Amino acid sequence: MTEKVVIIGSGPAGWTAAIYAARPNLNPLGFEGAMTAENGIKGTLPLGQLNLTTEVENFPGFPAGNLESYLASALPKDRQAYLPPHTGHGASGPELMQLMRQQAVNFGTRIVTDDIVKVDLSRRPFKLTSLEGQTVEAKAVIVATGARANYLGLASEDKYKNHGVSACAVCDGALPRFRNKPLVVVGGGDSAVEEGTYLTKFASQVHLVHRRDQLRASKIMQQRALSNKKITPMWNRTLVEVLGSEDPTKDGVTGVRLQSTVDSATEDLDVSGVFLAIGHTPNTDFLEGQLKLDDKGYVLWTVPQRANTSIEGVFAAGDVADSYYKQAVTAAGTGCMAALDAERWLAEQGEH
Ligand code: NAP
Repeated sequence: MTEKVVIIGSGPAGWTAAIYAARPNLNPLGFEGAMTAENGIKGTLPLGQLNLTTEVENFPGFPAGNLESYLASALPKDRQAYLPPHTGHGASGPELMQLMRQQAVNFGTRIVTDDIVKVDLSRRPFKLTSLEGQTVEAKAVIVATGARANYLGLASEDKYKNHGVSACAVCDGALPRFRNKPLVVVGGGDSAVEEGTYLTKFASQVHLVHRRDQLRASKIMQQRALSNKKITPMWNRTLVEVLGSEDPTKDGVTGVRLQSTVDSATEDLDVSGVFLAIGHTPNTDFLEGQLKLDDKGYVLWTVPQRANTSIEGVFAAGDVADSYYKQAVTAAGTGCMAALDAERWLAEQGEH
């Protein structure tokens, strides 16, 4: 059977597209991603980046309050088991994602917990192949695969991944190896200050290493981080080497070598962990160049105010096509656009 709409991805864009495609009976099939160790390391597990974050203060409709009883009534018990303890500060990222997924399910979205690893967009219907080898044909496709955290690309960083090097404070920050120890966060954007602030719950000290003398992060989040006594900004420095035990599984990370961007001087810092927060790369490898991308590798929207891509019948939504706003709410908004665009395009093709 050829699917009317297949949605690839399970962040705010994917689930909003699914809700909007399911309500007019397009019977969407969503590939939410695979639960693999590799996806865990890359940061591409189901439910996207919001699932890797803590409190979400800027998604409309979720002011402060206690969501617990609502979650208990809205989600099946087995999905509640995936949620970290509720903090009492409005919604958390994982709570929002479970709610969005459930809303898509309630309208009849069918979900496959697997990655799409290959596509053939040169033919219609389009052909999609999953990691486990399932092939699906689709009349319309919505790409909503988001973006993943970047690493510096150092050999030493690679060596200590999972042994003190991480790109997700929320996933790893509470591990015993980081408790009451000095840590480093690299970056100067909202992610860096958010992760740094979060890590102060566990760390003895957080060194915020930034390559300039000014943060890129929003003013409110900068203020929160810079007024935190446990955070020490380390301006004008880059991390050039992660230091640690010869065998990474023994002590793992024990320090970092920093280099000044002003005079190239180096210094070593004793730390037990390194958290990278230096931006993101869109998840477009599986497209193998079949859709036009912009110069940063994001899927190009080809029609103003539409979610169309360079291939008719393929639409894109969320961070995979957005190098500028990159917010949960804009991802949800473009997910809605992609589903409406797909619905109208399918109607033009005689599909109802
Ligand atoms: P970002 O805003 O792109 O910031 C990346 C940071 O990493 C920049 O400070 C950049 O330095 C630095 N950097 C990049 N490459 C580097 C390298 N090779 N070596 C050293 N430093 C490097 O990324 P982000 O912080 O992940 O935020 C992405 C988007 O998500 C933003 O729109 C942000 O507002 C949003 N976000 C929002 C929240 C929230 O509202 N709660 C939380 C997290 C993220 P330069 O400044 O010198 O370029």
